[in-house]
Amino acid sequence: MKVTRRKFLAVSGAAALASSALFKLGCPPPDPVVDDPPVDEPPELEDIRIQYAHTVSSICSFCGVGCGVLCYEEDGKIVSVEGDPDHPISEGALCSKGAALFNKYYEYDEKGNAIVTPQRITQVHYRAPGASDWEVKDWDWAIQEIARRIKDTRDETFKEKNAAGQTVNRSEALAWIGSAKCNNEENYLYRKFVAAMGIVNNDHCARL
Ligand code: SF4
Repeated sequence: MKVTRRKFLAVSGAAALASSALFKLGCPPPDPVVDDPPVDEPPELEDIRIQYAHTVSSICSFCGVGCGVLCYEEDGKIVSVEGDPDHPISEGALCSKGAALFNKYYEYDEKGNAIVTPQRITQVHYRAPGASDWEVKDWDWAIQEIARRIKDTRDETFKEKNAAGQTVNRSEALAWIGSAKCNNEENYLYRKFVAAMGIVNNDHCARL
């Protein structure tokens, strides 16, 4: 019998409908016959790389979209970064910048080996007013210095009333800039802190 394309599609459709109906009635099709035992697939290269790594859920630090990332850490070093499929915003997707997050930590030598980049700044660098050179300071010094300058400026410039006599309680001489390197919770605290200080000049790359 000659089977035309139309007849083939009609028979295939009828067979699919029949098997679907049987399945819904509690008659699932028999298991497929397996001739050979299953063969273990070799692990993917990426699976080997993160096999013993500790997974840390984080947020891409490049922009205000806040895509979720999974960072894989082993012996204090990041061994891989990928999109977090459980993240409600990005669902595992990353743009080209986010996909290159791994390379914020590493660069490659002439043989193509990944090495921790020496350009990553991990210390406080301070340049005094009028100075041309940077000094390396410790974090305790930096935090004390920032706190002292904020307090002094706020004390010297705080306004309780504006020119019309209305209560404003604000510090116009201070400004604050947020960062997409902070996660949502940190930025929430940042916004509350700034408001509590009476700082009205504040901004953030995501316009928080
Ligand atoms: S992956 Fe791209 S879009 Fe998402 S937060 Fe990072 S830079 Fe922004």
